[in-house]
Amino acid sequence: MSCKKMRSIPERRAERWNDWRWQMRHRIRTLAQLCRRFPALADTTGMEATAQRYPMAITPYYASLIRTPDASDPVFQMAAPGLDELADPLWLAPDPLEEDADMPVPGLIHRYEDRALIMATTTCAMYCRHCTRKRVAGRRESVLSVAALKRIAAWLREHPEIRDVIVSGGDPLTLPTAMLQRILDAVRRVPSVDILRVGTRVPVVLPMRVTDELCAMLRQYHPLYINTHFNHPAEITPDSAAACERLADAGVALGNQTVLLRGVNDDAPLLADLFRRLLRQRVRPYYLFQCDPVRGIEHFRTPIARGIEIMECLRGRLSSLAIPNYVVDTPHGGGKIPLTPHAIVSTSSTHTVLRNFEGMIVAYPEPVRRDGGKSLFE
Ligand code: SF4
Repeated sequence: MSCKKMRSIPERRAERWNDWRWQMRHRIRTLAQLCRRFPALADTTGMEATAQRYPMAITPYYASLIRTPDASDPVFQMAAPGLDELADPLWLAPDPLEEDADMPVPGLIHRYEDRALIMATTTCAMYCRHCTRKRVAGRRESVLSVAALKRIAAWLREHPEIRDVIVSGGDPLTLPTAMLQRILDAVRRVPSVDILRVGTRVPVVLPMRVTDELCAMLRQYHPLYINTHFNHPAEITPDSAAACERLADAGVALGNQTVLLRGVNDDAPLLADLFRRLLRQRVRPYYLFQCDPVRGIEHFRTPIARGIEIMECLRGRLSSLAIPNYVVDTPHGGGKIPLTPHAIVSTSSTHTVLRNFEGMIVAYPEPVRRDGGKSLFE
């Protein structure tokens, strides 16, 4: 399909541009709509098969961040279907982290002893091309039923070891405020749960969703942490900064999870810029994720050595506050493993030899008294 003859849709002039429901209703869902929005898009031939397998949704707001509709544009790459999504090595799985196998009740993933994750919805404002949950996100836009929520709350009551519950999806901030409140309320009523967390890309792709009404609701459920998902400095705008500001003013502690994506952000100065800008909008860089070996996203993956190299470059050049943990979520449900540059060169009973970010070797003296090898948890 050629896009040349299609007329462009004016951006940011719509009367209801700042209404998040208008943004949701006007998401780009088809290649014809993508062409209308980007007449310069040379050709979408071949993209049909990708769009059929993996849904597309781009909010008008996020589309307005695209400068050139081609692979040179990081925002376009994260939003528009690409031919590479269908070029999978045979061994890739749709769910290598085996989340579906770790569901004691439908809609709840339990992997770590003290944490559980609720999949509140399969809807997102935008379907990121690099999504780890590509097998579910947007396949059938649905929400957690009241009955499923009751079963989840009952399971949490039977498991007082769970202290930290993450409400995720899909994107839970796409839910109507009352529906999200029902979920937060049900979890907050479980006495053993200390911390509530919400994972969302809404401040990045639909910042107008962060309304005063939403913030007033959220502030009833402290301690509440929100992890956003900014991947590139181009995603940081006055709108996203204002959304984060409103959340921070509501007392929400904000962190960010960036996914390391080949050709999008696998570059140390670019990430340093992103992390500095995040801190300026009151968001602490929390994780830099190695992109998962999931079907449909192989083209975004970088070698782990590249990630280590980037981390090494950041260390010493950025404040520690701006440096996230680089982690790999291991296949077969092995959980997250932090990956660090090789700081320890050697160890002995008297010294540990360390290497700093400039390659300088330092012999660090060990304490004379040892703990006798006792477990730290004894
Ligand atoms: S917002 Fe999150 S869950 Fe939704 S498509 Fe993007 S990465 Fe996946």
